[in-house]
Amino acid sequence: MSDNVVNSVSKTLDKLYKEPLKQLETLIGATGLPVYKDPKSGALLWVDVRELRLRFTLSVNKIAKFVDGLREGKLLYTVCKRCGAKFFPPQADCPRCKASDMEWRETSPVGELITWTVINVKPASFSHHADYVVGIVKMPDGFNITAWVEADPKTLKPGMKMRLLVDRRPGENYITYWFKPA
Ligand SMILES: [Zn+2]
Repeated sequence: MSDNVVNSVSKTLDKLYKEPLKQLETLIGATGLPVYKDPKSGALLWVDVRELRLRFTLSVNKIAKFVDGLREGKLLYTVCKRCGAKFFPPQADCPRCKASDMEWRETSPVGELITWTVINVKPASFSHHADYVVGIVKMPDGFNITAWVEADPKTLKPGMKMRLLVDRRPGENYITYWFKPA
């Protein structure tokens, strides 16, 4: 998976959509329209045969320091120099007092697990992953971080110490952050 992640994710998605697309062909063949009734709500749905491909492109220009931090294995947050508000994910402009004068700080290495959930029904964009755990971790810096937790969910307990990891995650092969029991 790690040598050609983009192709591999694309193939997984193709496989996932193969069966629904076959059903769409059958529907159009039989009724002449790509229209069916939603079995749950009874609502009429039109499934267009034209496929839109969407890939997120987000500007990270104003938080370039955050990107630099990831490259160095650090997770950075911002503190508003005017009102003291802390932000993770970092904000370049303070939504509280509207100032744009921010101090960049490194997040503490260990936090405490508040709660977590196992994701069995994955969004299509994560369908190439096995079931995974997402947790909320309270950081001593004064904010919570929501991220993946690398652990057997049966071993997790509220209040457990969690270590922050900043590294390449298998599955995407780019640098991101997640937690592991400390
Ligand atoms: Zn502020």
